[in-house]
Amino acid sequence: MYDQANVFAKILRKEIPAKVVLETEYALAFHDVHPQAPIHVLVIPKGAYVSMDDFSARATPDEIAGFVRAIGETARTLGVEADGYRVLSNVGAAAGQEVPHLHVHIFAGRSLGPMLSKRD
Ligand code: AMP
Repeated sequence: MYDQANVFAKILRKEIPAKVVLETEYALAFHDVHPQAPIHVLVIPKGAYVSMDDFSARATPDEIAGFVRAIGETARTLGVEADGYRVLSNVGAAAGQEVPHLHVHIFAGRSLGPMLSKRD
């Protein structure tokens, strides 16, 4: 079910480069290659999890704590907590998830507007 050939698995194996912001025992944070805000960083767990749904069902308490703490630590490392930022994770087709390894986006550096575009 988990695709070992996905691009974030390759980054974790250091087969392709990434602009790393933070690395911990449980997580890696790196800049998105196509930033959609002045600051756009991805945080991923080191374990092989497809999505937040998969992670919440299978990850150990230490992995969950380590991942959540890494999200906050990344934001503090970026210095965005005072002005504010957005954490977002796409799960599956309806959300347009492109990479099948759990990741959260951290967006910051400008006013981020409404949570969703208004459609339908
Ligand atoms: P999602 O649509 O939520 O699956 O987001 C996937 C994100 O991964 C997109 O914002 C891409 O720009 C980003 N991305 C894809 N390949 C890389 C890469 N090699 N390094 C950094 N970010 C990437």
